[in-house]
Amino acid sequence: MAEEYRVLNFSAGPSVLPEPVLRKCADEMLNYEGTGESVMEMSHRSPEFQKIIDDAEANLRKLMNIPDDYYVLFLQGGATLQFSMIPMNLMTGSGKADYIVAGQWGQKAYEEACKFGDARCVASSKEDKYSYIPKVSKDDIRPDVDYVYICYNNTVFGTHYNEMPDFGDHMVVADMSSCILSEEVDVSKFGVIYGGAQKNVAPAGLTIVIIRKDLVGKAPENTPIYLDYKTHAEKGSMYNTPPSYTIYVAGEVFKYLLANGGVKAMHEKDVRKAKKLYDYLDNSKLFKGTVAKEDRSLMNVTFVTGDEELDKKFVAGAKERGMINLKGHRIVGGCRASIYNAFPEEGVDKLIEYMKEFEAENA
Ligand SMILES: *Cc1c(COP(=O)(O)O)cnc(C)c1O
Repeated sequence: MAEEYRVLNFSAGPSVLPEPVLRKCADEMLNYEGTGESVMEMSHRSPEFQKIIDDAEANLRKLMNIPDDYYVLFLQGGATLQFSMIPMNLMTGSGKADYIVAGQWGQKAYEEACKFGDARCVASSKEDKYSYIPKVSKDDIRPDVDYVYICYNNTVFGTHYNEMPDFGDHMVVADMSSCILSEEVDVSKFGVIYGGAQKNVAPAGLTIVIIRKDLVGKAPENTPIYLDYKTHAEKGSMYNTPPSYTIYVAGEVFKYLLANGGVKAMHEKDVRKAKKLYDYLDNSKLFKGTVAKEDRSLMNVTFVTGDEELDKKFVAGAKERGMINLKGHRIVGGCRASIYNAFPEEGVDKLIEYMKEFEAENA
C-alpha cells in the first residue's frame, strides 16, 4: 500500500517510480548486500558494480527480447545527446536521412541532423499543433537514405505510433523515451531504439541505447571519442564512470517488472488505465482530448476544457487534492496526465472522480 503522504504524481519526467523499488533502494542505501557501502559510493570497477550493470543489461534483454546482434548501451547526455550522436554515427553512408516530425522532440532531432548532412523532413504535423502522427509509407522515403527517424511516443502532445508504418528495408531509428517497456516491441524491426530513463525506467541521468551491432563503427575518424557508439560498445558502457546509481535503480526496476509479469502485464495495465481516462474524456461535456483518436498515447494523456482559466483552476484544484503536475507542457498549455508504468491504477480512478466533480461544478 502507498504511504498516505505520497502524492499522485502525473509528471512527464522525471516521473513516478514503483514504490517497492524505492523502498528496496532505501533499505540498501547504507549497506548494499552486506558490502558496508552504498551503491552511490561504490567503485564502478568493483565486482559488485560489474554484477549490477551486467544484471541490468541481462534483465533488460529478457524484458524486451533483445536479439544477440544488438548492443545495449547505458549512456549519459539524455535523449537529447542522441539527437546528435545518431546523425554523427549513422548518417555516414549516403549522408542522407529522412525524419518524420510528429512533435517538438522529433523537430529538435531533425534540426540537429541538418548540421551533419542531408536531413529531410518527410512529413510534419506541426501545422495542426502536432495533434496526429503524419502517415507515411516507404514510398515517401528517399531510396538511398542511411535511416528513417521517428519519435515513437510524443510526450508533449500525447500521440503514439499505434501502428508501425511499413518502411520496407530502410533502417529505422526510434526515440522511445516515453514509452519504452510499456508495450511489446519487435526490436529486430529497428536499427536503433533509444530513450532517456527518466520517463518510464529510472531517475534522470541515464540513456538506454539499443543498437544493431553492424551499425556501430560507422562514425568518421574525427568523431569525438565520447560521441562514437563504438567507444561505449567496446567498453561495456564503462569507457568512463557511468551513471552508476541510476543504472542500479534501473536494474531494480527491471527486476521488479520481470517479477510482475514483464512488459506484457505492464501493457495490459497501461491499456486499462488509459482506456478509463479516454472513455471519460469522450463522454465529458467539459473536457476534451486534444489528439486524433487513432494516435492516442497510453503514457501521456492530453486534454483541455477549452477555457484556459478553467484549465488553471482544474490543475490548482487537483494539486489541493494531492494530484500534482497535471499542467500541460509550457508550449501547448491545457492539461496532461502522464500515467507511466509505475503510476497506480487507483490514481487514474481518483483523477476521473475529481474530473467528474469539476465537470458538474463548471460545465
Ligand atoms: C523527454 C524526452 C526527450 C528529452 O530527454 P532528455 O533526457 O531530457 O534529453 C526526448 N525525446 C522524448 C520523446 C522525450 O520524452
